[in-house]
Parts: sequence; C-alpha cells; structure tokens
Amino acid sequence: MGRRLVRLAHSFFYAFIDFVYPPLCLVCYCRLEDDERFVCERCWTSFPLVEQPLLLADQLDVLHNRKKYFDHSLVIFHYSETIQNLIHLMKYKSLPGIATLFGRAIGHLVQERKIFYDLDMIIPVPLHSLRYRERGFNQATLIAREIGRLTQIPVKDKVLKRIRYTRQQAKFNKEERAENVRNAFRVTDASIVKEKNVALVDDVLTTGSTMNECAKVLRQCGARQITTITIVRI
Ligand SMILES: [Zn+2]
Repeated sequence: MGRRLVRLAHSFFYAFIDFVYPPLCLVCYCRLEDDERFVCERCWTSFPLVEQPLLLADQLDVLHNRKKYFDHSLVIFHYSETIQNLIHLMKYKSLPGIATLFGRAIGHLVQERKIFYDLDMIIPVPLHSLRYRERGFNQATLIAREIGRLTQIPVKDKVLKRIRYTRQQAKFNKEERAENVRNAFRVTDASIVKEKNVALVDDVLTTGSTMNECAKVLRQCGARQITTITIVRI
C-alpha cells in the first residue's frame, strides 16, 4: 500500500472514531467544535483569571522563614477544583495536549500585558529521566514551549537537570517537601544563565520548594532575575 493510501486510511479511521466517539469537553462534556481540543471555548473563558498575575516573591505566602531565590511569580488562573482536575488529567492520565492549552493561555497573557520584554529565556522544571520515561512527557516543557512559541522567547530545556529521583511532592507536608527536593537539581552549563533574566516554568506552585531549589542553583550560576511561571498557586 502506498503511503498516501495509508494516510487516507488513517484519516478515515479517525473520522470514524470521531463519529462514534465525538471528542467532548473535559469540563462540561459538550461536544467540541473542530478547532477546540480538550476544553470548549465557553469553559476556557469561564476560568477566572487572576487580576494581578505578576507578584513579587515577597508578596507570596510561601517559604516563610526560608530565603527565596526567585524574584517574581506569575500565575494565570485562580485555583479551582476544575483547574486542578485538568492538571491531574494532563499529568496522570497522559493528556499532554492540555499542557499546550495552558501554555497558550499564559503566552497570550504575557503578550497582551507586555510582561517580560526583558526575559532572556524560559526554563522548564525538569523531570528525572526515570519519571520522564514513566510519563512519556514533561508537562512543564510543553507549557514552556508554547509560551516560547507565542512570545519568541527561547526555551532552554537542557540547562537544568534533575539529578536525584525524588518522590512526588504531593505525598509530603511542607517541611518534607523542602527536604525531598534538596540538591535535586544541577545547572549543566552555567555560561548560558550567567547574568540572564530567566523564567522557570512548572504546572503548579504549592509550597514553592521545587521552584526555590531550581532558582537556588540558577542563582549560584549567576542568573540575574528569576521569575516563576505556573498555571496556579495552590
Ligand atoms: Zn466545556
């Protein structure tokens, strides 16, 4: 069979699947339009945006008596159960496409409000290679790439490496989380971040321990301004 024929068979196959199982919105279960993926337009626009997306690290209610190594924190949405469910589906039910939707929303916000005109690079919080193999993708990288695509800010996904396999932060309390990620990251090439303004991207900011640990090693390598970017702060 020629390649074109195979491709044709494929598209017929998927058209058939769509016909039998039309893609539904993960939030309201309505049938999605052709240009919609995972979540319908109406649900997306109903997610409450935070009024002040960019805050100083000192304004955050995290890492109380510990030094904060990042300067700013940007989030796009207010925390809600719906958003948390979507993040859960993205990470644990292998729906990486949702990460691209979140990245797109953040990218548009950054463009519209002209945040980050002096940002040199976007760095996703890395997964350990074992976890990557387990999950098959890093949601932080996918979010970062979409922000990068829209803003033209380069994404450096090799500069930070997770050198220790850590258990999932969700299983621990505040103190244990800090301990769990201590010395878990390394910068592979300090010259890339030296005197640069960087944004660290992850899906959520909870106690801030993971982001702070990443920011610490970047700071040690001479990074100038560090901003964390996440979908929500929990
Ligand atoms: Zn919907």
